[in-house]
Amino acid sequence: MGKREISEIVSRRFEERRRDEELAARQRRAELHAKLPELAALDRERGTAAASLLGAVFQGQDGLEDRLDTIRARQQDLKKQRAELLIAAGYPADYDTAKPRCSKCADTGFVDGKMCPCMKREIVMEGYRESGMGKLLERQRFDNFDLSRYSDALLPGKSFSPRQAMESIYRDCLDWATDFSLSSPSLLLIGGTGLGKTHLSSAMAKAAIDKGFDVLYLSVPTALSRAEKERFDKEDETESVTRRMLEAELLILDDLGAESASALAPSLIYTVVNERAAVLGLPTIINTNLDPQHLERKYGAAVTSRLLGEFLVMHFVGSDLRLN
Ligand SMILES: [Zn+2]
Repeated sequence: MGKREISEIVSRRFEERRRDEELAARQRRAELHAKLPELAALDRERGTAAASLLGAVFQGQDGLEDRLDTIRARQQDLKKQRAELLIAAGYPADYDTAKPRCSKCADTGFVDGKMCPCMKREIVMEGYRESGMGKLLERQRFDNFDLSRYSDALLPGKSFSPRQAMESIYRDCLDWATDFSLSSPSLLLIGGTGLGKTHLSSAMAKAAIDKGFDVLYLSVPTALSRAEKERFDKEDETESVTRRMLEAELLILDDLGAESASALAPSLIYTVVNERAAVLGLPTIINTNLDPQHLERKYGAAVTSRLLGEFLVMHFVGSDLRLN
């Protein structure tokens, strides 16, 4: 599902919400009328008052203002009586009026032709769900990425510590997310398990979704098993995972190399990486535990040289944070 489908789903939801609330308000009114006959009578009279406005207009210009004033005063009076009647019966005065969730747009999603923040927010939330990351996006953010968990002891044979290396990676990822656009470079995050690759990719995904981009997150094992299944069961072309992998404005492939041996893996990865980069010019983030030698052994030289040559490579260093 892409951006357009998400907007459609959300607009439909707003429409239903409005309709449901109007229906519920009408039911509450029917309930009141059944319980309070004097209220029903009053509402009938209010209906007559509204109709007499039109009658007053048809009587011509002469004395029109006065006639209208009298009717308006009568309407005000009826409105007041109605509120008093409701309160006396133990109901809030607005018991049977429709109450939109958003007072700015009355659940239409638009104010003065511009999309209301409430609808924008809901489209973003739908994007989170649709991205396949769900809860990850709430948990793994830039503001809770803890650099102090990385050791500040120099790496053997190097002049920097894991923390220094990670500070620089963190900054690069944050900059990448802040400036994210469809022409952003693709990223290859390399490094052992538990070093924060998923955390930072999730934070970058969230930034892209917040900017309104269509983001798809898949672990490579999941992507492959779904693609394998599709080869035999081609029924729903629109939900095709391979198609979504090519079309998503930002694709995140997590855990490249974690899949079990598959003949499909190298060609699928090659196609996705090649099509997205060379043909569509769309950014991709790939996370892997494999070092370049293992990547080449598993996916061949074509995939590996493309990844190392055209992706911005970030080497995550340190020891598994989950064990500390
Ligand atoms: Zn609103």
